[in-house]
Amino acid sequence: MKALFLKNGNLQLINAVRPSPVEGEALIRVHLAGICNTDIELLKGYMSFTGIPGHEFVGTVEQSSQRALIGKRVAGEINAGCGRCSQCLEGDSRHCAERTVLGIDKRDGAFAQYVVLPDRNLVQLPDSIPDETAVLIEPLAAAMQILSQVRIIKENKVLIIGDGKLGLLTTVVLKTTGAKIFLSGHHRERNLKMLSDIEHIDISENPIKPASFDIVVEASGNVEGFMTALKYIKPKGIIILKSTFHEDVSIDTSYIVVNEIIIIGSRCGRFEHAVHALSVGDIVIPNGYVDKTFSINEGIKAVEHARERGVLKVLVKLWD
Ligand SMILES: [Zn+2]
Ligand SMILES: [Zn+2]
Repeated sequence: MKALFLKNGNLQLINAVRPSPVEGEALIRVHLAGICNTDIELLKGYMSFTGIPGHEFVGTVEQSSQRALIGKRVAGEINAGCGRCSQCLEGDSRHCAERTVLGIDKRDGAFAQYVVLPDRNLVQLPDSIPDETAVLIEPLAAAMQILSQVRIIKENKVLIIGDGKLGLLTTVVLKTTGAKIFLSGHHRERNLKMLSDIEHIDISENPIKPASFDIVVEASGNVEGFMTALKYIKPKGIIILKSTFHEDVSIDTSYIVVNEIIIIGSRCGRFEHAVHALSVGDIVIPNGYVDKTFSINEGIKAVEHARERGVLKVLVKLWD
């Protein structure tokens, strides 16, 4: 099968051996995969990953010991747990200490024509969600995870730092709370067009009052984003950290102590929530969110394009 293979920061298009599912796992024929900032970070050395990257996908189950799954169109949660520890037994493999993570940690991912995941990770998709939207369920679920961690009410002022892929999805998700949302980033004109019913502000052009937000979501993907978050959060406010990056960050912890700021890390969310929100129309992916789709044959070009400044979601089509 065709696949993109990462080793020592080098990505190559290879002819890989088709993976074989073990007991409890399914073999999925991948239709589309999405390129995420995490993939770009992997190229820079994040997680020291060697293998096939890619964790956002939609596909069809070809083999599974659960007969009902065969032939079904699915998306898949990316954390594969051991199935035995207390986290797994509570149904949350996202924090299993022995987990593998699709295309990120010890498990080959979806920039390949076939991928393997545990049956229990798979979520069946209704026909109302097309592949081009279904491939965004993983990052959408990650954005929605904020709602399971923090209660946001309409009286809150929320700042989202970063108007890249995750920042925009987070804006769409948090808009559903009715809170006053400010999106900060470098692409004001584009954002205004894409999210025409949301109020925006561009900090770099229109400085706003420091220490004035109840909640700040850091989704910039940059080290500086955290400093910006500290600048704009109110005393006793909540900072939600969404970016994962390869670099270390040094912070002034006494500022956090003195102002009693709450910092929450936020990673993967539940796919069911995202599938539901999309199927009932609570969440609509804005037009223009997908920048371009490349064939796997041009997979290297796809990743290069995704790395360019200001480029939103790039998709890889695995079969012609
Ligand atoms: Zn991702
Ligand atoms: Zn476990």
